[in-house]
Amino acid sequence: MDEGSRSEFDLIGRFFADLGTPRADVLLGVGDDCALLEVPACLSLAVSIDTLVAGVHFFHDCDAEALGHKSLAVGLSDLAAMGAAPAWATLALTLPERDDDWLAAFARGFGDLARTYGVRLVGGDTTRGPLSVTVQVHGLVRHGAAVRRDGARPGDLVWVSGTLGDAGLALRLMREGGPVDSALRERLERPDPCVALGTALRGIATAMIDLSDGLAGDLGHILAASGVGAEIDLTALPLSPAVASRIASEGDWSLPLSSGDDYELCFCAPPEQAALIASMAAGLGCTLTAVGIIGAQPGLILRGPDGIPTSLSSVGYDHFSNNT
Ligand code: ADP
Ligand code: MG
Repeated sequence: MDEGSRSEFDLIGRFFADLGTPRADVLLGVGDDCALLEVPACLSLAVSIDTLVAGVHFFHDCDAEALGHKSLAVGLSDLAAMGAAPAWATLALTLPERDDDWLAAFARGFGDLARTYGVRLVGGDTTRGPLSVTVQVHGLVRHGAAVRRDGARPGDLVWVSGTLGDAGLALRLMREGGPVDSALRERLERPDPCVALGTALRGIATAMIDLSDGLAGDLGHILAASGVGAEIDLTALPLSPAVASRIASEGDWSLPLSSGDDYELCFCAPPEQAALIASMAAGLGCTLTAVGIIGAQPGLILRGPDGIPTSLSSVGYDHFSNNT
């Protein structure tokens, strides 16, 4: 064994061999050619993969612990959007050089979030090159119980969790080089995936998606998959004071509609479920807001403060720039 592969195995053993929550369904984890995982016969495996590239998805000097957190959080958000319970993750890490302080911080961020949600890191790949992080997540959901994008029906209410546009505002302020409030920055760098909410909505939500690219585009995926349209009331959108004042001063709704990285959930449900959903929000300690209604006619209609329908472009939506 040459020096390079010895140090690679040493790196894996030191930082990645024991991350997250040990689980009985992991027959074999990090260390062999493959991990061996047990999926009970009554459950489906939900799988999703995301890559974060330095300079594209995060700043080169991004805090390593936050990057470890976020690289897992984006996958857990996808599992939440299907109503799947998180179980395992694999991690492909491309590093320009070995930096043990950076690796320790990255592993801490990843491992802390993994433990929060009972996830075990079961394998991966480590290579040298421009910094990028790929995480595959695996979740479990009873056969037929996953919440897909294609189940929205006319009359369903459209709900969103949390507040919209905070991560986009943080990114905009960082790019402008100005000061960024630490709570706002956390929304961008350490998103908290809505895992408990996603699983609680099984059997209640008719369609669901996580908000990674902004409400207009992501809800658009539900509408296209379900063959329906929607009307959204802009005045109902849940906004933090910082985002609300930016909209008030600029008249531009692109932060909640088309900025990325919120990792909140958007879902549809029949109006009869509204009381149950409100009590669920109270029980989980999260905010859930009805922002619109599904209609039979395809297309997305936005109603502004004056109640008059507005087009996406007139409220600052630019489909191609994801203009945060
Ligand atoms: P192979 O050459 O058989 O693909 P590797 O040398 O890539 O094996 O990896 C050795 C073991 O370490 C494997 O079990 C692999 O899953 C695990 N591994 C490699 N890199 C990582 C990582 N960044 N995080 C977690 N496990 C890793
Ligand atoms: Mg390998």
